[in-house]
Amino acid sequence: MPKDEVRVSPDDRGYYFGDGVYEVFRIYGGKLYEKAAHMRRLEHSAREVRLPLPCPLAEIDDILERLTAESRLAEGTLYMQITRGEAVRSHPFPAGAASVLMAYCSEVVRPKLTMETGISAVTHEDIRWLRCDLKTLNLLPNVLAKQTAQDHGVQEVVLHRSGTVTECSASNVMIISDGVLRTHPANHLILHGITRAVVLELARGLGIQVREEAFGLDELREAEEVFITGTTVEVTPIVRIDGQPIGSGEPGIVTRRLQTAFEATFR
Ligand code: PMP
Repeated sequence: MPKDEVRVSPDDRGYYFGDGVYEVFRIYGGKLYEKAAHMRRLEHSAREVRLPLPCPLAEIDDILERLTAESRLAEGTLYMQITRGEAVRSHPFPAGAASVLMAYCSEVVRPKLTMETGISAVTHEDIRWLRCDLKTLNLLPNVLAKQTAQDHGVQEVVLHRSGTVTECSASNVMIISDGVLRTHPANHLILHGITRAVVLELARGLGIQVREEAFGLDELREAEEVFITGTTVEVTPIVRIDGQPIGSGEPGIVTRRLQTAFEATFR
């Protein structure tokens, strides 16, 4: 429907409490990339916060397919969220509220320049809750982290819990250390990125040793290469952290190989 015909209640729990879950899909060649993985994660997020889906998953799938087709976008993103719906403001789950699904497609171009040159980042304490595996609407800590990056004139924030690196404000982070690819294990402290999973599988296929093992800020700073993964950033090198260059200060060779391999998954 046209955007100016959309009506959302001011009593929507997404608005009051951030009580909802979301997903961001990439559209490549007019198709939803890794759709099944996103749908599984959506189902996981909804189940864990006990949010009833507004209709069966297969029906949501149909809606998203129709939306993608009608957008006629060859490249872009599809944003979707489901909130616990409209109810008088009160913390417990409301009786009889209907979950509200909203989705739209946008034209988004691939971040070719930053993938080529790399980005800079600053480090920051990870102040989020202990269920970062759930893609919920409560993104205030992520918003604050991203604003910190902007305040420092850089593009991302590498988050850490008392010195242990978790992920970034809107992406997962990986390092190459002694030729080994390391990234935080997929537990409750990070979002289980769809891109992360694709890249780890590609790395293994390329014969790169992968260790899903936490690392500290020192290992981050001393790494040969650092890069982030995410639906919109794909595989983007980080070349400076807290003002200091990573390795040579240029995107690394393993990062380049993974960028090429990643691109081949949707070409
Ligand atoms: N971590 C966080 C905190 C994110 O918000 C995102 C998504 N932008 C990611 C990681 C990457 O996940 P995905 O590869 O599924 O986009």
